[in-house]
Amino acid sequence: MRDEGEAPPPLLELQGVGKHFARRVGFAERIVGMLGSGRQEEVVRAVDGVDVAVGEGEVLGLVGESGCGKSTLGRIVAGILAPSAGRVFYRGRDMATLSGRAATATLLKVQLVFQDPFASLNPRLRVKDIIGEAPLVHGLIARGEIEPYVDDLLLRVGLDPALKSRYSHQFSGGQRQRVGIARALAVQPDLLVCDEAIAALDVSIQAQVLNLFMRLRHELGLTYLFISHDLGVVHYVSDRVAVMYLGRIVELGYAEEVYRRPSHPYTRALIAGVPRLDAGRHAFEPVRGEIPSPLDPPSGCHFHPRCPHAMTRCRTEAPALAPVAPGHLASCHLNDG
Ligand code: SF4
Repeated sequence: MRDEGEAPPPLLELQGVGKHFARRVGFAERIVGMLGSGRQEEVVRAVDGVDVAVGEGEVLGLVGESGCGKSTLGRIVAGILAPSAGRVFYRGRDMATLSGRAATATLLKVQLVFQDPFASLNPRLRVKDIIGEAPLVHGLIARGEIEPYVDDLLLRVGLDPALKSRYSHQFSGGQRQRVGIARALAVQPDLLVCDEAIAALDVSIQAQVLNLFMRLRHELGLTYLFISHDLGVVHYVSDRVAVMYLGRIVELGYAEEVYRRPSHPYTRALIAGVPRLDAGRHAFEPVRGEIPSPLDPPSGCHFHPRCPHAMTRCRTEAPALAPVAPGHLASCHLNDG
């Protein structure tokens, strides 16, 4: 296990990043009285005060149940959403201070690979145009270089360049995801944000695409923010893991450490819920209770209504993300000593 002193310098750093969405409350909802007659809008804190850094060449896994804010955080990192609070640094430069060419060049260095390769590929474009359009527009290649450039990218993701004149609907799900990955690679990124990037694929194809991601990591020196609800997948690919619950990171550490010695009760419940074969039997125990609405998150520690160890102070006081071992942080009052 590496310790903090050996961590690579951050390629990406988030400081106090939050994303709040406001929804106007209708007149009918207000007069029903549930929301109070004076309230004009509801605020969802989809991401709430996230501090995390990703080292160059590292794979940071981001896990949590659906609705915990991990996709919103991924979109902030990819520059698709602006944060409502906090700062995003790329190679030490505050993204909010960049403009013009510098902002565009930095945004190209971070590419998002989507969950649904069918929805994310333009059905009216041939694959060579899907892949070749962005590097041409941004001046990374000349028009005459498109064909060999696309051929090289298709080979790199395991597709036959002879297929480049086809449309996306003529490919299987796994092939479409490879096209999506080639499109992301076409602008020569440093960081891929993979948001449930294998979740829509057949199980038999998932391992192939995961292995492709890992091969590309070594061939191109890529850094990944790998977002998934699947702990097994995240364990397989990640150097470190961040566990999110209702907009906050509740545990962060090296993958082996977090999976062997989970500290936060939520992480322990998630890991206990992963089906596995132990002495010939399936162990499956989902996290008890429903994830609360982010419109009205529980006070104090957001996890307290579902936590078997909740104490009185958990209802009023949010625990800080604090070290529990070298390079391992968790936010739980049980660790306060
Ligand atoms: Fe459970 Fe309290 Fe720890 Fe939250 S702070 S995880 S409620 S023990």
